[in-house]
Amino acid sequence: MSTQGDPANIGKVLSFLREWDRGDRTVRSRMLSTFLGQNTGKSFYELDRELAQLSSLFLARLTTWMRLTYMFGTFLGLQLRAISIFLSASGHDQYLMEFLEDGGALTLLDILNYTQSKEEDKAEALHLLLTVSNAGRKYKEIICESRGVKVIAECLAESDIEETQETAWALLESLCQGNPKYQNQIYRSLITLMACNSPKAQQLVLHTLRTIQSKTKTAHHSIVEPLLNMLRSLHLEVQDEAINLILDLKCYDVKPLLLSGLVALLRPTKEEVKPHQITEESEMIKMTGSLPVFVQQAAAAKAIRLLAEEDHELSRELLSLGVIQYLLYAMGNREHTDAQIQASLALEHFVRSFPVVEEHVQRVMGSTLFAAFMHKAGSLYMNLDETQAEILITNKVNISGDYVLCLVMSKLRSAMHKGKRAAQGIVESAKPKRKRSKTAVKEEETTQAASSSSYHTFPDPADVVQLRSQLLNWYDKEKRELPWRTLAMTEPDLNIRTYAVWVSEIMLQQTQVATVKDYYNRWMKRWPTVQDLASATLEEVNQMWAGLGYYSRGKRLHEGAQKVTTELKGQMPQTVDSLLKQLPGVGRYTAAAIGSIALGQVTGAVDGNVIRVLCRLRAIGADSTSPAVTEALWGLANMLVDPERPGDFNQAMMELGARVCTPKGPVCSQCPVQSHCHSYHKVHVKQEQSSKKLLWKLERKTSALPDIEDCVNSGTCPLCPSEPWDDELGVQNFPRKPAKKPPRVERTLTFVVIRPGEEGEDEYLLTQRPNKGLLAGLWEFPCLLLEEENSEMKQRRTLCAEISRILGAHLTERLCQYVGEVVHIFSHIHQTYVVHSVRLKDGDTQTQTENAQWLSRSALQEAAVSTGVKKIVKLCDSVDSQKGQTSKDGKKQKITGVKNDKKSQTSKKPKLGAANSGGRQLSLSSFFKAVKEES
Ligand code: SF4
Ligand code: ZN
Repeated sequence: MSTQGDPANIGKVLSFLREWDRGDRTVRSRMLSTFLGQNTGKSFYELDRELAQLSSLFLARLTTWMRLTYMFGTFLGLQLRAISIFLSASGHDQYLMEFLEDGGALTLLDILNYTQSKEEDKAEALHLLLTVSNAGRKYKEIICESRGVKVIAECLAESDIEETQETAWALLESLCQGNPKYQNQIYRSLITLMACNSPKAQQLVLHTLRTIQSKTKTAHHSIVEPLLNMLRSLHLEVQDEAINLILDLKCYDVKPLLLSGLVALLRPTKEEVKPHQITEESEMIKMTGSLPVFVQQAAAAKAIRLLAEEDHELSRELLSLGVIQYLLYAMGNREHTDAQIQASLALEHFVRSFPVVEEHVQRVMGSTLFAAFMHKAGSLYMNLDETQAEILITNKVNISGDYVLCLVMSKLRSAMHKGKRAAQGIVESAKPKRKRSKTAVKEEETTQAASSSSYHTFPDPADVVQLRSQLLNWYDKEKRELPWRTLAMTEPDLNIRTYAVWVSEIMLQQTQVATVKDYYNRWMKRWPTVQDLASATLEEVNQMWAGLGYYSRGKRLHEGAQKVTTELKGQMPQTVDSLLKQLPGVGRYTAAAIGSIALGQVTGAVDGNVIRVLCRLRAIGADSTSPAVTEALWGLANMLVDPERPGDFNQAMMELGARVCTPKGPVCSQCPVQSHCHSYHKVHVKQEQSSKKLLWKLERKTSALPDIEDCVNSGTCPLCPSEPWDDELGVQNFPRKPAKKPPRVERTLTFVVIRPGEEGEDEYLLTQRPNKGLLAGLWEFPCLLLEEENSEMKQRRTLCAEISRILGAHLTERLCQYVGEVVHIFSHIHQTYVVHSVRLKDGDTQTQTENAQWLSRSALQEAAVSTGVKKIVKLCDSVDSQKGQTSKDGKKQKITGVKNDKKSQTSKKPKLGAANSGGRQLSLSSFFKAVKEES
């Protein structure tokens, strides 16, 4: 056709369009073929010129015809290719926009979704969508918003043509680069796709998951099961991609689930091997079964080796999961050589990295087999006879329990400065048979010291499973409805949920549930999001917190909220580690509690209640604050936590401690986990034993009495009690705490300075405490800690000088009247406030420093003041009313409940005429004048 604007050309194009409109499908197909022949590969400008600026009209006709006829397949291929000429035309995206405005993307997705569409048409539709997606972020969004991800993902899963699969995959990869808000949608669709049958699709899906994972920086728990299932694939490329993804996932929250899943695969369950092919004689199981299960076993061993080689900390975690026993089992699988090889290589890594493992494995294998293993682990299977294989399969080595305790011991050693000698004692008693490296000796003897202590763990996984279900069933029936629990269950927004649980956990630190409830409801009503809290002032926060105690907690919540909004873009940290690192005031327990309750992370959480329950369950009687016990308790909590319901499990443990396994009155008869409780068992057997002893005396029988099950190594065990068992205490023998330090005794001189306020209401002078330490940032009456070495008079003078500084004028201590004493007990301080008051006449006395202010009586009630201040006000009130009464009755009355028998000198001889009767009113100006005259 000729140049743009040429009327002859316009006429030609118009007659072309007329022919199209009038033509039947045969005519149109001929016209399309011609169009394709003449215009393929042209740019936007060339096409526009060719079609005399009427190209849009033709594209609109094509798009409409396609939408109307795609179900009949009428020359659909030709239509798609013609549209492709427009969409691929370089230089301008006008055609693209027109096509999308006419619903072109939806039609393409319909073509993909339509079961009867031809494969080649689907491939062409995918190509067109890829062109759309590659054109930019807003085009990607159009596809995602049209539910395109699901359709494209299904296309990838269901197609058996490689080119179609690859185009669908390229399209998904392209969509991953778009708006992060759709990445989660793509991520979840891909997880669903993992279960598809096509190996090619699986491989591509795994690849894209890795891409998207690196962008979203978070992993969903639902990925673990299908991913582990993919290790069954007989296609090496799929397996390799799956293992690569597993290696990537080690950095995310799903790690514990993944590691325990991998370890479990090393030992297929009986159900997984065909029943008729199992021969079971006593404990020997001949491994037969489906190939995929063994392929999976081999792949799991390979993944475990690669993970362990990359990260020493991961190796430790795997050891605590009992990986050695499982690897030995897989090595004995003579049905599948690759499982043997991979397990052997993985085991070799652990043996070479941990002397304690070497010791155990050598013991299990015997020296000849072990020598062959160390010579060439990968080909050990060739030397393995049936008996040796059975030894490996039935091995009972328990390095998990031992290893956890071994770690505990080594941590204990490093924590104890003075413990060197004790450690040497253990080293000597261990008496290693041959010379070994220093580390080897250390690990060896710690193992020996602790090897018998599986009494304090849960060596049988079946017990763990049973305990979880007993505890959770009880919790489901018995749990209290608490506002933060309701929020954690119902709040869909992850950020708000994390914030809500954070607030509750901080409030619950050192404060009872019953007290916290009201505070929590008021707090969440006032500051429902972290952003709301961040925009509050510290003063408002302190005011809200007043009465909850431990005031620095409120301040840290406030600081944390401001950090989240300014440094973390308003996003609460989403892992236990980042909670711990990024939020002030969040320690190991709080991070674990928030992580498990709000974020579903699989981690145990050890608070005071959990310490008590675990110590009683496993008869841990050493000082519960010692490093050894602390580590052992965390190890237990992490081992027990239910991977499916970690938050509920942790709350159930705490609920059990708060309501059943209470400090002073445990109700063992109602305890859901009684059957696992060593201390209950101990008490029960003790009783039985005592009654049998009595019987024995009565009947003079000499039958042997049953032994109480106990820790066989209690002499050296770091977890056993050092003090003897006290029959009267029963299960309350556990836990043991170090002797409590008596609270520090302090006396504080306090001046209540009062002036008449503008509206006839008294005003009080308050100063603000420093931002750190006890009652940080709260307002209080001017005060001074009394020191024994200085006389009280001298210290009164000092405090007067300080108040003078605040008021910018001299105040003599003679004006201060002794009021009485108030006792307030903090957890670690026995505080006595020695209260004096000064009543000034001038209402215009201005404070001269920043951290001082006058507050009216009503404002004082609302302000962020401690309970101690409120008690002082009460004392002053009671003294005032007493004086009022005295002046009315003309005689003195005894004040009950207030310690004010001491008279200050000033009250006896008021020299300055400031306050003689009743209120001791003093005009400040006359007071200063008097002071001047006096001096
Ligand atoms: Fe606590 Fe008794 Fe239950 Fe043991 S049986 S966990 S001591 S309540
Ligand atoms: Zn012990």
